[in-house]
Amino acid sequence: MFPRVISDSTPHIPARARRTATAARASGATPPARRSLLRAALAGTAVLGTGLAGAAAPAVAAPSTAARKRPTTAREALRELEAGNRRWRTFREQHPDESPAVRQALTTGQHPFALVLGCIDSRVPPELVFDQGLGDLMTVRSAGQVLDEAVLGSLAYGVLELGIPLLMVLGHQSCGAVRATVEADESGVRLPRHIQYLADRISPAIDHGKEGDARVDATIDANIRLVRAQLAAEPDLAAKVVSGELAVVGARYELTTQRVHGIV
Ligand SMILES: [Zn+2]
Repeated sequence: MFPRVISDSTPHIPARARRTATAARASGATPPARRSLLRAALAGTAVLGTGLAGAAAPAVAAPSTAARKRPTTAREALRELEAGNRRWRTFREQHPDESPAVRQALTTGQHPFALVLGCIDSRVPPELVFDQGLGDLMTVRSAGQVLDEAVLGSLAYGVLELGIPLLMVLGHQSCGAVRATVEADESGVRLPRHIQYLADRISPAIDHGKEGDARVDATIDANIRLVRAQLAAEPDLAAKVVSGELAVVGARYELTTQRVHGIV
């Protein structure tokens, strides 16, 4: 069953959640990093034929004991991810939604506000780099964010069955899957069977206009764009984008600064 659709201007915010909104959100400040990710996301969704400004999102009923205001639109979800990444990279994590009350509330259901398709890399766990807790993010991970039927089915479940308004493709600096793909392409050496499957799907993103490490780095960005475009071409997801219920954005995590920024 699908949750009902409400307008962006009337988000469902339980009074309990309003009272306990985090100080970070209450400050109202818009740091440069937040603007940059939102700006990139806006540009990215514009490419897909819609903008976040007119986005409507499914209502998300927070667990009865939830202590935080839950994002209900793609824009709000992006803001929360941006704020969480800022906490992470400045060593001010709040480790939200881990309390006994939250764990108990989540036994009756889940209402994650963002869907993150990330790499398997052990240095980029979405819940950590966005400082989120239980029930906040639905994460799907595959090497190089490669899509296959299981990945697509998992993402479709989050969007179509749970009504998640934001789907983020999260690549990262120094991605081993991308590097292996580039090096195999250059050497002509065939990779082990299942790893070659990954490389075959990443290789269309190889940036032959660059050399060495610059080629790997540019291919990381191109691969994020490629996966985002592939997702946008999925009919079920595209329909949600057109209706304004879903935004699909690309982003990249930098190991050196621990910052996530938008990839347009
Ligand atoms: Zn990776």
